[in-house]
Amino acid sequence: MVELAEEPRRMSGGGGALGVRIALRCARSDQGTTACLTLGPKRWPHPGVQAASPRIRSHMAELVIRAARLATPLQLIEDGFVELDQGIIIRIGQGSPPGRQGVVVDLGERLLCPGYLDVHVHGGGGAEVNHARPDEVADALRQLIAFHRGHGTTSLLATTVSDTPDVLRAVLEGVSIAMRDPGSGVLGCHLEGPWISAQRRGAQSLEALRPPSTSELEDLAKLGGGALRLVTMAPELPGAKDVIRLARKLGVVVSLGHTDCDYEAARKAFEAGVTHATHLFNGMPPLHHRHPGPVGAALSDPRVFFEVIADGVHVHPALLGMVAALAPERMVLVTDAIGAAGSPPGHYRLGPIQVVLKEDRVVLAGQEEVLAGSVLTMDKAVAHCVEAGVPMLVALRAASYNPACSIGEVSRGLLAPGRRADIVVLDAELGVEATLVEGRVVHDPTGLFGHPVVASRSG
Ligand SMILES: [Zn+2]
Repeated sequence: MVELAEEPRRMSGGGGALGVRIALRCARSDQGTTACLTLGPKRWPHPGVQAASPRIRSHMAELVIRAARLATPLQLIEDGFVELDQGIIIRIGQGSPPGRQGVVVDLGERLLCPGYLDVHVHGGGGAEVNHARPDEVADALRQLIAFHRGHGTTSLLATTVSDTPDVLRAVLEGVSIAMRDPGSGVLGCHLEGPWISAQRRGAQSLEALRPPSTSELEDLAKLGGGALRLVTMAPELPGAKDVIRLARKLGVVVSLGHTDCDYEAARKAFEAGVTHATHLFNGMPPLHHRHPGPVGAALSDPRVFFEVIADGVHVHPALLGMVAALAPERMVLVTDAIGAAGSPPGHYRLGPIQVVLKEDRVVLAGQEEVLAGSVLTMDKAVAHCVEAGVPMLVALRAASYNPACSIGEVSRGLLAPGRRADIVVLDAELGVEATLVEGRVVHDPTGLFGHPVVASRSG
């Protein structure tokens, strides 16, 4: 009846279920959800349905979610369903889910997509990553991820700003603690500095910058016990080559960023194993027709993922459309959000620096022409892209699948059998209506799945 596949793979086409479906609805008092009994569906195989391994398929799904549209996001499936069991997606498809069913929640005209994955986020909901003690870091991460879940982000890399060696050590330890929480959305740590260019440091603290150091990298990687996933650095600095080589050996992705390098130096860095570019256009020389710089190098190299801050301030909307059209499979939306995300205008901290939140931007205190992160959330980033003319699937892919690929994360970022059941429910304007993490509803203010759940007070 359905195609069996041992491994998740890309879906290849549409297809549909034909037949008569009669749904009998009854309330489930224990969960407040709706059970749906499907009688006599006639189906035949089509490429829009996948099943997990036969071992997994022997289970009845705990939960089946139906919606008018499913963005996997490599494909759009109309009238789709997702079956979940034990926190994992076991099947997706079109039409009526065949076979036995558990609880079915029909979300009508809404859109389902994978939970967003933010590889560059410093804070949110009043919490930030940089702290002096590991327990403070872990507590802050729980608070900031609760906030971002309300905006569709289910996984993130806790991102530092340049700080003292002791603070970075505490962050790595704190991240490794938070990663062990059940259902944790913390995938690891992104070190944004301290090995960056003084000329292109943006709002980062000049005192906290230092030359790339293999011993510091080794120490931080060891403390994190696998938590260190991504390092943003300037490849032109002395010692950078050795750090890139060691990072690759340790399985840490290296990102070119806050750099003053030219096109040739950027090309060499990509040859040396750098596969990511941090907030393209920001913190680096601009694209010039005779000097393409790191922007030109990153856009023209098919091995390189590039981050974009789509808040309408960091990058002009016209460029969002251009880079999305040029490399839809490599664009990675990030928020670069600071702790003030979700808070009113005022004075805030970003690691060791003082910043001011204006209406639509965050700037360095006393230097208002310097942007200092953002208060963007992923739902807004996706919506801004679509407003700028980026096709919806491309925008959703840049918020989920592409970032997962950029850090080699194979368990998330895709609605496919075998992937973690991290799912966002979107309305017609791409606003987040509900968020599920490992199949558990963590944000559902209107009670689509039963009892209302609010991800955080500020979310
Ligand atoms: Zn940043």
